[in-house]
Amino acid sequence: MDYRKLAERLLPGEYPALTEYEERYPLRALGKGAEVTRLAPSPTGFIHLGNLFVAIANERIAHRSGGVMYLRIEDTDLKRKVDGAVEAVKNALRYFDVRFDEGAEIEGAENAYGPYYQRERAEIYRAYAKDLISRGLAYPCFCTEEELSALREKQTAEKKITGYYGEYAVCRNLTEEQIYAALDAGKPFVVRLRSQGDATRKLNFHDEIKGDIVVTENDQDVVILKSDGIPTYHFAHAIDDHLMRTTLVIRGEEWLASLPIHLELFDALGFRRPKYGHNCSLMKQDGETRRKLSKRKDPELSLEFYRKEGYFPRAVKVYMLTLLNSNFEEWYRKNPEKPLEEFPFSVGKMGKSGALFDLSKLNDISADELSRLSAEETFDFLKDWADEFGSEEQKGYYSDREYALRVLNLCMGTSGKKRRKDFRTAKQATESMAYFFGGAVRTDDYRVDRETRIAILTGFAESYDVSDDAQTWFSKVKALAGSLGFAAETKDYKANPEAYRGNVSDVAEVLRIAVTGRANTPDLWTIMQILGEEETRSRLVAAKEE
Ligand code: GLU
Repeated sequence: MDYRKLAERLLPGEYPALTEYEERYPLRALGKGAEVTRLAPSPTGFIHLGNLFVAIANERIAHRSGGVMYLRIEDTDLKRKVDGAVEAVKNALRYFDVRFDEGAEIEGAENAYGPYYQRERAEIYRAYAKDLISRGLAYPCFCTEEELSALREKQTAEKKITGYYGEYAVCRNLTEEQIYAALDAGKPFVVRLRSQGDATRKLNFHDEIKGDIVVTENDQDVVILKSDGIPTYHFAHAIDDHLMRTTLVIRGEEWLASLPIHLELFDALGFRRPKYGHNCSLMKQDGETRRKLSKRKDPELSLEFYRKEGYFPRAVKVYMLTLLNSNFEEWYRKNPEKPLEEFPFSVGKMGKSGALFDLSKLNDISADELSRLSAEETFDFLKDWADEFGSEEQKGYYSDREYALRVLNLCMGTSGKKRRKDFRTAKQATESMAYFFGGAVRTDDYRVDRETRIAILTGFAESYDVSDDAQTWFSKVKALAGSLGFAAETKDYKANPEAYRGNVSDVAEVLRIAVTGRANTPDLWTIMQILGEEETRSRLVAAKEE
C-alpha cells in the first residue's frame, strides 16, 4: 500500500517537517543532572490533593537539580473543560507556593516551549500522526461505537483481554480499496497506532520511584488521533514531553498501566524516552480497610477544602513532604525554622506504595505551624481567610487590628515560652475566638445546679473590680469559693474531698462558661480585661437568666 498517499488523504496539506520541530524546541541548555519536570492537569475545574502531591514532588526535583518545572494544560477532552479552571489550578498551586518556571499563562517566563495548551498544538500532533501513517505505523479505523462495544462484550464473554489488538483489530488489515471506499463514503475515522508489540513478552523497566519492575509489552492499537483530529492523552503525552524536553515524568501511579503504550509510542516516534516515576496514591483509612481518597466521599480531596477551612498553606505542604519523602519528618523536627527548600528532597526517598493521608495528623502539623507565628502574622492570615471565606460577622472580627491582636496574643500565648496550640485552621481559630467579638454561643454546660450558679455569679459580681490585678482577682475567686462551701485551695480539696462541695476550679468554671460560653479557654482574668468591665458584667448578668 502507498502509505504516503494514504497519509495525504487522511491529513491533507502541508505540515512542517518534523526536523523543524526539533529545531524549534531544542534541547535545553541546563547543567548536568538538571531535571525538567511538569505538571499536566486537565482543566476539569477540580484540582485535587493528588495534583498538589505530585506537583510538589515535581517542583522540588526540578528546583533542587537546577532544572525547570513547567505547567502544561491537557485540554484535549473538551467535554470536561470548565471555564476558569486554569486560573483555579494556578491559584491553588500559588497558594501552596508551588512555583512554575514556565508554561500556560506563567507571566514573565520566556515560555519558549509553548504553546502549553494542548488544543493549541493540534498541528504538531497531526504532523507526527501523518508521519506515522506514511511509515505504515498508524492507520485509519472506521469502527463505530456500537461495533467497539460489541467487540468488548464478546471479549469479556470469552474471558479475553479487551481492546483493539491482534485478530480483533479489524481495520488494521483493511485493503487499500476498502480504506478508500470508506473514505469516499465519508465514514468518520480515528487514527490508530499499528502496534508492533507482543503481549506475551515482558520487559524490565526501571521506575525512578518504584524501582525495577516488569511490564508487559503493549500490543493494543491505541487511538492516537480522535475523529475530530484531536490527539488522545497517550499521543499528546509522548509528543509534548519530547518536544518540551521533559527529562523526568513524575505522575500518579494510575498511569502505570498505560506505561507500555507510552514506551511503544516513544519508540515508534523515534524519541528518546524520558525517565518515569509513578507516585503512590493518597490513601485513607476507612474502618478496617484502606482505600484511595475519593472525590465523592472525601471533601478533603479537593484543594478548595483547605482554603475554605483555612489551613495554613505551609502546614499542608509540610504534610505533603512528610508523605513524599521518608526522611523529611526527621529533618523537619531538627530544622523547623528552615525554609522547606533546604530539605534535600530526593526521588529515591519517595514511597513505593500508598501514602496514608490522615486529617488529624494534618491538624497537629497545622497547630504546630500556627504556634510558631507571631500574633501579627496570625492576624494577617486570619484576616485574609475571613475576608474571603468568613461570614459577615467574622469579617468584622478583624476590623479592629489592635483589639484583635490583644485577643491573639492571649489565645496564642505569645508572651510565654510554651506557646498554646489551640489553633488548627483559620476557620476553627476564628470560631474559637467568637466570644471576644460578641458572637458567644454557649457550647459547654454548667456542672453545678442553677441555685449555685446564681450564687457564684452574684457573689463574683459584688466583689469584681476591673482594676484588680490577676492575683487579687484570683484571691477574690478563692474567697468566694470558700464562702460557698468549695475548697479555696486545690490541695485542701485533694486531701479531703468529702469536706467540700467542690474545688475553686469548679467556681472558676462557672465564671468562665458565663463569660465565654466555654469550659476551656485561656486565662480568664485576661479575657475579662480584654472584654472590659461593662461587657463582662453584662455577660455575668445574662448568665443568671439562662
Ligand atoms: N492530564 C493527566 C492528568 O491530569 C496528566 C498525567 C501526567 O502527568 O502525565 O491526570
